Amino acid sequence: MEKENGAKPSAEEETTERWRFGENKAVAAAGGRSIRATLNKVVSSVDENGPRPLIPLGHGDPSVFPSFRTTPIAEEAIVEAVRSAQFNNYAPTNGVLPARRAIAEYLSKDLPYKLSPDDVFLTAGCAQAIDIVVSALARPDANILLPRPGFPMYEARCTYTNLEMRHFDLIPEQGWEVDLDQVEKLADENTVAIVIINPNNPCGSVLKYQHMEEIAKTARKLGVMVISDEVYDHLTFGSNPFIPMGIFGDIVPVVTLGSISKRWVVPGWRLGWIATTDPKGILSKTKVVDSIRSILDITTDPATFIQGAVPQIIEKTKDDFFNNIIHVLRDAAELCYNIIKDIKCITCPHKPEGSMFVMVKLNLSYLVDISDDVDFCSILAKEESVIVLPGSALEMKNWLRITFAVEPTSLVVGLERLKSFCERHETN
Ligand SMILES: *Cc1c(COP(=O)(O)O)cnc(C)c1O
Repeated sequence: MEKENGAKPSAEEETTERWRFGENKAVAAAGGRSIRATLNKVVSSVDENGPRPLIPLGHGDPSVFPSFRTTPIAEEAIVEAVRSAQFNNYAPTNGVLPARRAIAEYLSKDLPYKLSPDDVFLTAGCAQAIDIVVSALARPDANILLPRPGFPMYEARCTYTNLEMRHFDLIPEQGWEVDLDQVEKLADENTVAIVIINPNNPCGSVLKYQHMEEIAKTARKLGVMVISDEVYDHLTFGSNPFIPMGIFGDIVPVVTLGSISKRWVVPGWRLGWIATTDPKGILSKTKVVDSIRSILDITTDPATFIQGAVPQIIEKTKDDFFNNIIHVLRDAAELCYNIIKDIKCITCPHKPEGSMFVMVKLNLSYLVDISDDVDFCSILAKEESVIVLPGSALEMKNWLRITFAVEPTSLVVGLERLKSFCERHETN
């Protein structure tokens, strides 16, 4: 604001005492837990005048790289939806019917029963699906079981809605399987759900059928639903195939979360879903579906023209496109694993076989002048212009999460820089 004489009012002229508004500590606490907040801190260490380009192995958004360009079929579907002038309206609460039908059919292909369009709710990416499901469950006194390591958006949303969280461990030596004994010990009569991420971010693991069945049986025994984050559905390239948790829907009600962000490499399009994979209708009977619907009534929807494009995107995308992405990811994971194997201070307990990430452990005793994972990532950013995510952001101190979903040529350069950085800082 300008004063009449053109001078800006100085900040010192106003104190904050008279104003009744201020920081919302709950929001600050929730936001501080985000991957973005942690990465911003790491990126701020980068030497902006450094001679070498930044290599971002911290966050998972390969859409900017030529090898990960989405299929032209998806791009055309969007153009057509816009040009049709049929999607300039507000969408209905659950999302437009043809899109929900296409997603129901897409998911049903891998299930022993058929979903109806009414089992599907469209959301602004899988992120909003998380928001909505957590909010729907966040009644006073309830608690939820979250994986460690996990995806911090769950922690942020629980903090924000005051839903108590209890963390169970994924066991690195067992292919990052769920520690089910611990799950049973953590749960009590107020536990409402257990969250599974499969294929897994950050671990790059893919769960086996038998273990998933055990998770389902444990959840049934505890009387809790399974929230299955399958945003990396079908992005698998090892020996374990992708299996949707909904297969076990007759054992336990499953809320499946997904989106087109990862498989179609279009995270900016913001189109995701909540699907109740629950043939016995328990989520309806317990009114959880009503809660989800109530929240959808009071939140924004994904852009209608994106919804309008969904049937074409899903039905027309060729296997060639998916196969090519898988091929690029498999090679990238292999390369990443092999280079890391030769780095003394970093160990990878499990070769990645899905998603776009791998979790590796820092062995600080091999490093001379580095105090912890955050320190490691900050100095790495400063000296090498390479970004990786400190495990602390995922409740895993002194671990690192590395994404291999970048342009293959950049990946090689980034990992070689990581390697020479480690060699420089290692003890002899
Ligand atoms: C990327 C990601 C999401 C969010 O997906 P969007 O569709 O981009 O909102 C949710 N869960 C996990 C585990 C993710 O990696």
